[in-house]
Amino acid sequence: MAENKMLRFVSVRRNMPEKRAARSRASDFNEIYAEFPTEGAKEQSSRCSQCGVPFCQVSCPLQNNIPDWLKLTAEGRLEEAYEVSQATNNMPEICGRICPQDRLCEGSCVIEQSGHGTVTIGAVEKYITDTAWTKGWVKPIRVGRDTGRSVGIIGAGPAGLAAAEQLRMKGHAVTIYDRYDRAGGLLMYGIPNFKLEKDVVTRRIERLEQAGVQFQLNTDIGKKLPLAKLRKQHNAILIATGVYKARAMAAPGAGLQGIVPALSYLTVSNRVCLGEKVKAFDDGSMNAKGKNVVVIGGGDTAMDCVRTAVRQHAKSVTCLYRRDRENMPGSLREVGHAEEEGVVFSWLAAPKAFQGDKSVTAVRSIRMRLSSQDGSGRQAPEEVVGSEFNLPADLVIMALGFDPEDLNGAFGESDLAISKWGTLTIDQRTMMTSLPGVFAAGDIVRGASLVVWAIKDGRDAAEAMHTYLEAGAQVARTAAE
Ligand SMILES: Cc1cc2nc3c(=O)[nH]c(=O)nc-3n(C[C@H](O)[C@H](O)[C@H](O)COP(=O)(O)OP(=O)(O)OC[C@H]3O[C@@H](n4cnc5c(N)ncnc54)[C@H](O)[C@@H]3O)c2cc1C
Ligand code: SF4
Repeated sequence: MAENKMLRFVSVRRNMPEKRAARSRASDFNEIYAEFPTEGAKEQSSRCSQCGVPFCQVSCPLQNNIPDWLKLTAEGRLEEAYEVSQATNNMPEICGRICPQDRLCEGSCVIEQSGHGTVTIGAVEKYITDTAWTKGWVKPIRVGRDTGRSVGIIGAGPAGLAAAEQLRMKGHAVTIYDRYDRAGGLLMYGIPNFKLEKDVVTRRIERLEQAGVQFQLNTDIGKKLPLAKLRKQHNAILIATGVYKARAMAAPGAGLQGIVPALSYLTVSNRVCLGEKVKAFDDGSMNAKGKNVVVIGGGDTAMDCVRTAVRQHAKSVTCLYRRDRENMPGSLREVGHAEEEGVVFSWLAAPKAFQGDKSVTAVRSIRMRLSSQDGSGRQAPEEVVGSEFNLPADLVIMALGFDPEDLNGAFGESDLAISKWGTLTIDQRTMMTSLPGVFAAGDIVRGASLVVWAIKDGRDAAEAMHTYLEAGAQVARTAAE
C-alpha cells in the first residue's frame, strides 16, 4: 500500500514542476509517511531480507545494528528498535536525515544489489528516533559518578557533541567552547534547514545542557582564550574545530560584488531560517530571489547551495562543474533531487573570468574534456580551445571545498604536529595529538568529511580520553598514598 502510494506520489511530483521548489527528500518522507506513519516504516523494514551478511552494517561508519532495528520495526516494536539504534549513535535522527546513504549503508543493501531498490534505512532510522522523541522514549543522559576530572572541548560540531555525551556518561565534567553564537557547528550553520531542521539539532544540545555540559559560546580559542590557558584549566582537551578555510579561485573579476563563498551564503540562509533578521539577506547581497545564480563546484556543498537558491525563488540556477556527472564528488542522489527541482547542470565547464563593472553580470566559461587517466587513476580536466561561452549571473556562489585553517598560528603551539594537508596529526590508537593530554577528532583530523564520521571519531576520542583520565587519576591516587 505505502509503496504504491510512494510511486504515485513520485509520478505526480514529476508532473508538477511548479511545486518542485518546495520539495525535499525529507519532506517527501514526511508527506508519504504522514498518512501511514507506522505502516510505511514497517513495510520498508519488512523488506529487509535479514540476509545474514549485513553489508549495510559494515558500510555504516558506526556499525549500527541495522538488521536488528529493521526487524524490530517490522514487528511494530518501535521502542526496542529505538534502544538498539541509539546504542551506537548519539544522533540517529540526524544521520537518518543527512547521511549520504547511497554511498554508505543503503549502497550495500543486498536487495539494492539484486536490482529491487534498497531498503530505505536512513528514512526508517529517522522515523524511529523522531517517534522516540515524540513518545518520550528519549531519556535524559545518564551521568556517571563524578570522577573529579574535567575536559575542555573546542568545537561544538557533531564530533565535539558526541564526545561530550560519552564523557558525561563516564562522570567527567565537560565544557564545550565554540566561537559561534550557537552550538552545532555545520549542523547548525552549514547544512540547510530543508535537509536538517534546526530544532532537531537544538533539542540534542538542550539534552546535553540538561546533563550538565557547559557551553561557552562566542569564545574563539586562540583569539579570545589561549590554548595554553585552557590546558591548565582542564585535565584533557579535545580539538574538534572542523575545517573552514574556503578554497579560493584566482580569476579575473573574482573580486566583483555578487561573488560569495558558499558557507557565508548558507550561514545567512540558516540564520534566516532560525528567525533572525540578517542584513545581507534583506539587502539582497546573500539572497537569490529573482536572480540568475551560478554555483561553481560539484560537491555536496554545491548541491546545498543550488537547492537553497531554488527555495529562495532564484530566476535560474546553474551548477558549473569541470568534470562530468560520473566524476563529481557529490552524492548522485542529491544531483537527482536538484535536477527535479529545476537546477541546470553545466557539466565539463569551468569559469575563466567574471564579467561586470562593479557587480558580476556573467561568468565567462569554457568547455572542458577529460584526458586519459593519470597515475592516480583520475582523468584530469583540460580546456577545449575556442569553446568559451557566457553564463548570465547576478549571484555567483563559490563552492570549491574547504581546507583547515592555520592551526599552529591560531593556537600558538608550535609543537602541535600538523600533516601536509594542514590537518591535525594524531596517534590513531590513542587519538592524542603531539601535545600530551590534547586529543583531536572529526574534520580537523580527516579533512572535510561526513557527520557520521565526526560522531564516530567523537565517540572513539571520548573512549581514549577516558582511558587517559583514568590512568592520570590512578597516578594521582598512588602519589597521594
Ligand atoms: C555546506 C555543508 C553541507 C554538508 N552536508 C552534509 C551532509 O548532508 N551530510 C553529512 O554527513 N555531512 C555533511 N557535511 C559535512 C559535515 O557537516 C562535517 O563533516 C561535520 O560537521 C564535521 O564535524 P566536526 O564536528 O568535525 O566539525 P564542525 O561541524 O565544522 O564543527 C566545528 C566547530 O568548531 C568551532 N570552532 C572552530 N575553530 C574554533 C576555535 N578556534 N575556537 C572555538 N571554536 C572553534 C566551529 O565554530 C564549529 O562550531 C556538510 C558540510 C558542509 C560545509
Ligand atoms: S548512521 Fe548513516 S550510514 Fe549508518 S545506518 Fe544511519 S544513515 Fe546509514
